Order: sequence, then structure tokens, then C-alpha cells
Amino acid sequence: MNILLVGAGLSGAVIGRELAEAGHHCRIIDARDHVAGNCHTERDPETGVMMHVYGPHIFHTDDQGVWDYVNRFARFLPFQNRVKTTAQGRVYSLPVNLLTINQFFGTTLRPDEARAFIQSKADTRISDPRTFEEQALRFVGPDLYEAFFKGYTEKQWGCSPTQLPASILQRLPVRFNYDDNYFFHRFQGMPAEGYTAMVQSILDHPRITVQLGTPYSPDMAEAADHVFWSGPLDGYFDYRLGRLGYRTLDFERFTYAGDYQGCAVMNYGDRDVPYTRITEHKHFSPWETHEGSVCYREYSREAEPGDIPYYPIRLVQEKALLDQYVQLAQQTPGVTFVGRLGTYRYLDMDVTVREALETANTVMTAWREAGAVPTFGKSPS
Ligand code: UDP
Repeated sequence: MNILLVGAGLSGAVIGRELAEAGHHCRIIDARDHVAGNCHTERDPETGVMMHVYGPHIFHTDDQGVWDYVNRFARFLPFQNRVKTTAQGRVYSLPVNLLTINQFFGTTLRPDEARAFIQSKADTRISDPRTFEEQALRFVGPDLYEAFFKGYTEKQWGCSPTQLPASILQRLPVRFNYDDNYFFHRFQGMPAEGYTAMVQSILDHPRITVQLGTPYSPDMAEAADHVFWSGPLDGYFDYRLGRLGYRTLDFERFTYAGDYQGCAVMNYGDRDVPYTRITEHKHFSPWETHEGSVCYREYSREAEPGDIPYYPIRLVQEKALLDQYVQLAQQTPGVTFVGRLGTYRYLDMDVTVREALETANTVMTAWREAGAVPTFGKSPS
């Protein structure tokens, strides 16, 4: 079969690879001039630092299959994300752990004592937290919530944490020990040569053709037996029901001769600091040495038409609109909607890879059951 994949990010690359290995011909287009979507990395020409061009991406997973898969295509080096936050004039360790608690409250609590202490601050009347704020008040209490989460979240999402789902905060652990690893997954690392090299290697297959700088046009789909769409779900339908809300990010780049902040990610919890965090990219590759440094001040705002969509907002009104688009998608034969933008979800990279592998498998099973066979040797249209 001749397959068109729109978008050369992780979803498109993994699905394309699975299909190509099964004998199908894949044409992958991307409007941008690089592969890897928002996990694109490139070396800064001035300093040689490997830049996470669209913001920090750290690969972490509990999924052995996904870990094995990405290690087929890139050499991963150990990396542990140790985030700090500046709030109320002081620097603290994140995610909230025993050091954070003891520093913040000026205590010397041991794990059991800290657990009891935080429990005494938590609002235990909230039995089933539904919103971000309820989740925070239930698990860390008002002081830590105000210092670390309220202002940051207002800046990041542009709305009150009372409007956001608890699931956003559930991404972060609270620990009653000194473990300051941001993620708790078994496997965590960074591809030594960056994500773009990894995605290029996934795409390096004789039955895959990649065309960059190539926006989608509907006539391309007519020439294909099946389309995988990893662009925005509403964009496929020309936004005919309205636009799904996204947050976009602006990065203010600056350089520094030396070590600017001593860590990869410094969050800013205070509402009156306009940016959410500063990332210093050379610290994402701790095995490299660079004299100079490149940092991004990261600002979040509502995405306008033409902006790069980053985070799906998924408030109540978006969810209603999403349901309508999902219905349209289900009534669109021959097109499979995939990935963060195609399914309008906040997806980590490991989940993206797992879902891409499963989608490829499901779709190929359906083709086999329908009697469609791979077209070995035929070039893509
Ligand atoms: N968050 C916060 N303060 C922080 C870090 C995170 O309030 O210092 C909240 C914020 O709402 C954010 C969410 O927790 O959107 C999830 O954080 P994560 O670090 O997973 O966000 P990402 O790196 O994906 O932007």
C-alpha cells in the first residue's frame, strides 16, 4: 500500500518505520524544514551546545519495550532531571521532597514526621480532588501550593488552577525522602546526539521517503491508500467547528559566557516574574563541555492562528468541541489521527512511541483482515 504520513515527528516516524518494515511504502511530509517535531534538537552554531529548540524534552519511561525501541535508533546516555524553583526570594528543590519541605518550613523533619506534618496542613475534607487546586490543597496544603504551584500554573495555563483538571498536577510526585529526581520511571536518558538524529535514524529505511518544507494539500491524500495525520485535529477539518485551544511558548534566547544557573531547569513560582522557567541547554548534555552557554526564558500564552501549538488546554468548552471533532474524525475513512496534535492530548514522548507502535499494528491488522497486501517494490506515488 502507499501511505501518506503528515508530520515527521515521533508519531509519524515510528508509524512510518513499522509500516515500511512490513513492506508498505511511506511518504512522510512535514511543513517544517526538520524532522522530529517539537522534540527537534540542533547544535547552536556559536557555542556548540545541543539545543532543545522547542523547549526541554527528557525521555523517561517504565515501558521496557519503548525503551528498547528508542535504544535501537540512538545511543542514550544517563540523564536525571533535577529541577529547581525560585520562589519568594529563595531557591528550592523540586519536585516537592523532604529537602523542599525542610527548607521551606525551616524544619529538620524525618520522613514520617514530614508526612504527618504535611498531612496536618492538607485539606483532608477534599476526598476526591477534581481540580488542580483541590489536588494541591489535598496533597501539599496551602503554603507549598501558593509558593510553588499557584503562580506558576496561572502563568503556564493562563487561567485559575480552579479551572484546571487535577490530572495536570498528578504528573508531579510529592516525596517524603531526599530523592529529587523529577521523574520516577525506571528508564531515563537523553539521546547522545539529540532527538533529531534519533528520528532521522528511525526514518532511515528504503521504503520511507521524507519531504521537508512540504505543507499538506488534499490532493496528496487522493494519491495515497491511507493517511496518518499527526497535525492538529481541528486543522485537518479546516477549523470548521472552531479552534481547539492551545498554549504556545515564546522563548527569549540569551547567551552567557560560563555557567548561568548551574542546572538545566530553573522554575519561577512567583506570579510577578513573567516567565515560567529558564532552561540552560548545555546542562541537558552533562557529558559535553562547553565554555559558552545558551538559555531560554520561557513564556506561555494562548496560541493564536499561526503560532506553534504546544499544550492542549482541555477545559470544559474544549472538551465539548473535541468530542465533535472526534466524531468527525471517526466518520473520515482512510485517515488515522495520531499523536499529541492529532488526538489533542498532553502526551509524553514514551506514550507517543507506545501509541504509535500500537496504532501501526492495529491499522495493519485491519488491512490484513480486509485483504490489503503490502506492495513490495512499487514506488510511492
Ligand atoms: N507546575 C507548577 N510549578 C512548577 C512545575 C510545574 O505549578 O514548578 C505545574 C504546572 O501547572 C505544570 C504542571 O505542574 O503545567 C506539570 O508540570 P510538568 O513539569 O510536568 O510540565 P511540563 O514540563 O510538561 O511543561
